[in-house]
Amino acid sequence: MINLREILNDDYKYDYISMDENDDTTEIWKINVSKNQKRNDNISIDIKFEMTNRVSSDFKIINANSLYFSQKKMPCPLCGSEDVVIAEEFEVDEDGYVAYSHNCEFEVNSVIEIAKEVYYLMLFEDYIENYLKDYEIHFVTEHTIGFAQLDPYLMYYVIDGKEVFHYDEVDKDMVEVCPFCNADQEIDSNDGYKMKCPTMTKKLNELIDLLRKKDISNKERKYLKETGSYKDYLKFYNNLIWKT
Ligand SMILES: [Zn+2]
Ligand SMILES: [Zn+2]
Repeated sequence: MINLREILNDDYKYDYISMDENDDTTEIWKINVSKNQKRNDNISIDIKFEMTNRVSSDFKIINANSLYFSQKKMPCPLCGSEDVVIAEEFEVDEDGYVAYSHNCEFEVNSVIEIAKEVYYLMLFEDYIENYLKDYEIHFVTEHTIGFAQLDPYLMYYVIDGKEVFHYDEVDKDMVEVCPFCNADQEIDSNDGYKMKCPTMTKKLNELIDLLRKKDISNKERKYLKETGSYKDYLKFYNNLIWKT
């Protein structure tokens, strides 16, 4: 059995291929993932999954195939099987490269994990800008920044160093409604409840860029000045200490 996470590690490339709605409640997604390395080793994995009611716990993997290009038929580079087929959806290119595909034996849970992760990363790319429109910077220290939609109160996030957390001072349940992940690991914290947001943490640079682009309102400026954190706010925006 192949563990897809071990093949890809954390830093992999992904592409959206298609999304078809089967009926009102079911979507069929197809994505492609590959190792993120400079010298492309010419293999990627197509994952097709089904999701019901846009609920990530209702993910079902339909299939996962390795895909590679070769001038002549050769065994699957991932598992060595000779039982490979030509991937008909690709045309033979001018150098005679043919696309081959193999239905490798993947550990299903590792495929589900990657599929969910990619789904949320794509959701983040599509919606985060819009989502942040109603968010305000709520507090800043030299190493943390908190932003939240306060009216009506929605999700509260804290960037702390290189990680992003869902956060609430008093209510544990409030830290579980992030649309960009299904985080469930509570972090011990002295002040309130914290849960790491894996999607936002992976997209930290994009998130910080968006926060920097956001115009700070007079209300926020007043608040930050009153609480004495305006200087830290400026420092945060001028100093990209969290840039990786
Ligand atoms: Zn294989
Ligand atoms: Zn989240």
